[in-house]
Amino acid sequence: MNKPRIAIYWCASCGGCEESLIDLGEDLLKLARSAEIIFWPAAMDGRFSDLEALADGSIFISLINGAIQQEDHVNMARLLRKKSRFVIANGSCAQIGGVIGLANLHRPKEVLQRAYIDAETVANPPRTIPGSQTASSCPLPRHLNRVRTLDQVIDVDYYIPGCPPPSELVKNAIFSLLENNFPLKGSILSENRALCHTCPRQGTLPEHLSVLRFKRIHETLWNPRQCFLDQGIICLGPSTRGGCRSRCISANMPCRGCLGPLDGVRDQGAKTISFIASLIEETDPEKIAAIVSQIADPTGLFYRYSLAASLIKTRHKGLGQTDGFSRETS
Ligand code: SF4
Ligand code: SF4
Repeated sequence: MNKPRIAIYWCASCGGCEESLIDLGEDLLKLARSAEIIFWPAAMDGRFSDLEALADGSIFISLINGAIQQEDHVNMARLLRKKSRFVIANGSCAQIGGVIGLANLHRPKEVLQRAYIDAETVANPPRTIPGSQTASSCPLPRHLNRVRTLDQVIDVDYYIPGCPPPSELVKNAIFSLLENNFPLKGSILSENRALCHTCPRQGTLPEHLSVLRFKRIHETLWNPRQCFLDQGIICLGPSTRGGCRSRCISANMPCRGCLGPLDGVRDQGAKTISFIASLIEETDPEKIAAIVSQIADPTGLFYRYSLAASLIKTRHKGLGQTDGFSRETS
């Protein structure tokens, strides 16, 4: 009997989403019994031409992780879309751009300069930066003008949030489709309520909260049982989707928003800024400015995972609208 086919691909990401798949553990064996993994470059040999040779729609599920940062990511995403019945954006980078999306604060040339020349840990005396081909004329993929989410270049059926996506969510998503339980197209396959609802510190989140000083975690001896916000430490639990079993809070670190926004929230960073602003009750503009100035790197904090999916998308006006890779109309 022909088993449903699964393809797994990795665009611009750190590899953590692939680790989540490995963390399926014995469920990987169950998966191997129920489906045939036909393409997974991180784990086995596979070629673009093998995929091209398949009939359109003949892959049951393609799980694509990572943001779209290079021309070959677009080509592979388009090919997998053509060959697949369902495409799942797996993890924060594919869903909302992830940390990779923060590259949109800079022009691609600046990103390469930083990564290959200026970074403190880089030793590159000839100051070599990747160009369009290797010394032996092998073509190299071209950087896009800006980082995109997967659904900014192809149609996506479902999303698994998280950085990395919790294995439990990955498992539920794959087996639900294999058992012919199809969620509504466009669903984000995790619970649709804020992280605070299931946080072990939820009982210590006061109903009324007013913050006069925002502290970073190294500036205070924080209580490991008390809500971070109540201690003046920014935690993004109120504006972040639940479903991770509060893994950062359990490790005594505040949430940084990797499971993304709840349904209906267009801009996770703006939503977060709005709730943080509501904690400041001061009315004197100078005092408000003094409190806000205590928040280090607000863009990196509020848009850590979602800049590429946000309303602003990039710091540079018009960047990426004319490079021919977007499926967005505005
Ligand atoms: S703000 Fe953070 S620490 Fe407080 S209840 Fe929400 S998730 Fe938990
Ligand atoms: S606590 Fe927040 S940052 Fe940590 S895994 Fe959960 S959603 Fe992601």
